[in-house]
Amino acid sequence: MTVVKDPISPDLAESLRGELLGPSDGGWDEARAVYNAMIDRQPRQIARCVDVADVMAAVNFARENGLLLSVRGGGHNAGGLGIADDALVIDLSAMRGVRVDPAAREVRVAGGSTWGDVDHATHAFGLATPSGIISTTGVGGLTLGGGIGHLARQFGLTIDNLLAVDMVLADGSFVTASEDENADLFWAVRGGGGNFGVVTSFLFRGNPVSEVVAGPTLWPLEATADVLRFYDEFIANAPEELNGFFAFLMVPPADPFPEELHMQKMCGVVWCYNGSPADADEALAPVRDFGPPSLYGPQPMPFPAIQSAFDGLYTPGLQWYWKADFVDELPEEAILGHVEHGAKLPTLHSTMHLYPIDGAVNRVGEDDTAFTYRNSRWAQVIVGVDPDPANRDTITEWTRDYWEALHPHSAGGAYVNFLMHDEGEDRVKATYGKNYDRLAKVKGRYDPDNLFRVNQNIAPA
Ligand SMILES: Cc1cc2nc3c(=O)[nH]c(=O)nc-3n(C[C@H](O)[C@H](O)[C@H](O)COP(=O)(O)OP(=O)(O)OC[C@H]3O[C@@H](n4cnc5c(N)ncnc54)[C@H](O)[C@@H]3O)c2cc1C
Repeated sequence: MTVVKDPISPDLAESLRGELLGPSDGGWDEARAVYNAMIDRQPRQIARCVDVADVMAAVNFARENGLLLSVRGGGHNAGGLGIADDALVIDLSAMRGVRVDPAAREVRVAGGSTWGDVDHATHAFGLATPSGIISTTGVGGLTLGGGIGHLARQFGLTIDNLLAVDMVLADGSFVTASEDENADLFWAVRGGGGNFGVVTSFLFRGNPVSEVVAGPTLWPLEATADVLRFYDEFIANAPEELNGFFAFLMVPPADPFPEELHMQKMCGVVWCYNGSPADADEALAPVRDFGPPSLYGPQPMPFPAIQSAFDGLYTPGLQWYWKADFVDELPEEAILGHVEHGAKLPTLHSTMHLYPIDGAVNRVGEDDTAFTYRNSRWAQVIVGVDPDPANRDTITEWTRDYWEALHPHSAGGAYVNFLMHDEGEDRVKATYGKNYDRLAKVKGRYDPDNLFRVNQNIAPA
């Protein structure tokens, strides 16, 4: 653990309207905690900013004093990239708020909000912005990396619904970036992560989403190969209103799962249909006919219900290790690899997900935003999770073995938000592929000294 120097600086405290926390303050351990309990970092100070002026003051203070700077949005990054040892942390968790303009179908979101905040506010107007599958995830980190969730096939990635950002740059200045203003910066923040500055406010498009038909279908583990073959073909031809991500799971010992399935290792698909129950029924008919599944769970519900359906299982404070890839196709060898390693699922919370990134995601060009792998079919993530620190090595080894076996069948890079903190520069380069050099140039323009480097870092050109 790093020794903390100069824990409190009176100068910065005086320029902030929000709190400046140091190691001896009450609430310090909660403030420095990140979602993944494998990560334990001891920053120097935490500036809990309440407005843009606070963010400017903290950025200027870090730069002028040569301090390492980190930016914490929702704190969900599996590599804990919101917090760093010995860093001044800009904590955005007090900057939460959502304003919906129903006439313009636009949603203004403060930089430290969570997706639960957004879903709650937009649902009242029958609108939604595509995001991820856990409502406690931060809007900041998820959006800046791309954003893959239940509405991806119909409405694209989160960044495909981003209209503008307000940002504080490394020199402390404030800018707005959109297609019409600072377009190079707007291109880069749509996938390039927190490399370019602190986003204090996001402006999103809202899409017509209200009641959906959502839930899982589960099959016995022995059916995995057939389910994957069926899923591969089915999802390629399914209407875009229907999203479905493949998953291995150990069935939680709780409602709504029937007792006979509790703690069984199974495979399944989590569906979300944005439309009427009758249309969902028709779209899902081949799924019912195939198999049939041991559990057929899709049912009508408000969109925020599926958005938060897994929050209770994936609470903050679990041990968490994941590895990812983009996937273009599922050849037989890859299917056999999934069969082998899925059967070795080590704990109740561990899983493997294949998130479709086709449909609307594919209709945006590979260099229209910094998110390069537009032509892949899935973002795959292998996730070892358990509450017990004693199982840390078990879940890590399972994840690594599984990933090693499947990586040769992948497209090369991985979704940047599914990388750990220590995967190295080559992995970041593989993730951005042909967009990397352009990102490095934009980084060179807006952050030439790499002040924002606690992230999947893009070195300034
Ligand atoms: C349980 C779980 C489920 C997930 N599910 C999905 C999913 O379905 N789809 C998906 O796409 N991703 C998913 N993710 C990945 C998620 O997108 C990333 O972990 C993301 O980094 C989380 O963002 P955050 O703001 O909560 O994290 P933080 O740890 O706070 O930040 C992550 C990174 O983003 C930067 N950052 C955050 N906010 C800002 C800001 N306002 N301005 C500038 N930089 C900022 C930070 O500096 C840091 O580098 C999931 C993660 C978890 C743990």
